[in-house]
Amino acid sequence: MKVLVASNIAKEAIELLKAEGMEVDVRADISEEELKEVIKDYDALIVRSKPKVTREIIERGEKLKIIGRAGVGVDNIDVDAATERGIIVVNAPGGNTISTAELTMGLIISAARKIPQADRSVKEGKWERKKFEGLELRGKTLGIIGLGRIGFEVAKRAKSFEMRVIAYDPYISPERAKSIGVELVSFDYLIENSDIITVHVPKTKETEKMISYEEFRKMKDNVIIVNCARGGIVDEDALYEALKSGKVYMAALDVYEKEPPNFNHPLFKLENVITTPHIGASTKEAQKSVGMIIARDIINLYKG
Ligand code: NAD
Repeated sequence: MKVLVASNIAKEAIELLKAEGMEVDVRADISEEELKEVIKDYDALIVRSKPKVTREIIERGEKLKIIGRAGVGVDNIDVDAATERGIIVVNAPGGNTISTAELTMGLIISAARKIPQADRSVKEGKWERKKFEGLELRGKTLGIIGLGRIGFEVAKRAKSFEMRVIAYDPYISPERAKSIGVELVSFDYLIENSDIITVHVPKTKETEKMISYEEFRKMKDNVIIVNCARGGIVDEDALYEALKSGKVYMAALDVYEKEPPNFNHPLFKLENVITTPHIGASTKEAQKSVGMIIARDIINLYKG
């Protein structure tokens, strides 16, 4: 069994695959073009959110049996094309839940207290204490869109900050939400009543641009927006307008409509935007965990 690792994954996962007798090639910076050329030699492919695994790549994978996504979102893989060819697509749900929830909390606090902006100011030799007056989280309403694995962990952490937590997720039971003191509400209620809105849904036709011009209009003034899920769930152009008009107090983004993003977008020039380069799952613990989950899936398939 020949495995192509087309992204940086934990060394423990590579060692495990090798220990099970697999031939492993690591080409972390492979381009889509190169992948198209070499994929015919491999039985298994491991990726993260990059590279894109297109229909063309999948159709050229003559021996390909499994595509492992060392992470959660499989939106960079043409799952339909894989299924048509009987290729299994596996991901590692749960492996990076805590890391992403912790980054979300970090971004919420950073936005409320303008920590990155204050850091920049001090490093520029300024002492602007008044400028960096922020907001307290206690007593604020956190609206979570998508109360799945990550949303759930964010909710638990926010409760310990004494926040009121409401969530919109039509696919989970009110009991599950209630078990951690979260109120399930309608989408409109959440949009209109949250002080902070954080999205934790997958990117689908239903969720793309689910926060756009109309939603921003309905929100409370000075709302904070956090997106650690997928770029484009929050419409970037609409967000820019809402930030510029002062409707949105601060936005914190880990993900973008295009990655790397178009740095010329005026969004990146605004002082009230905090950005990180898609690092939700970038911790030692999460990378080890997702790598090992995928390695075990490949081994299980190999061993039948
Ligand atoms: P999950 O599947 O456990 O949770 C998603 C939740 O969204 C589910 O409860 C589902 O019912 C809900 N949902 C689906 N469609 C919805 C809709 N239209 N409206 C409201 N709720 C809806 O997934 P997860 O592990 O919690 O991951 C959530 C998101 O975070 C995914 O998009 C994933 O790609 C992203 N993610 C980002 C990073 C990062 O590095 N920033 C890391 C991990 C995951």
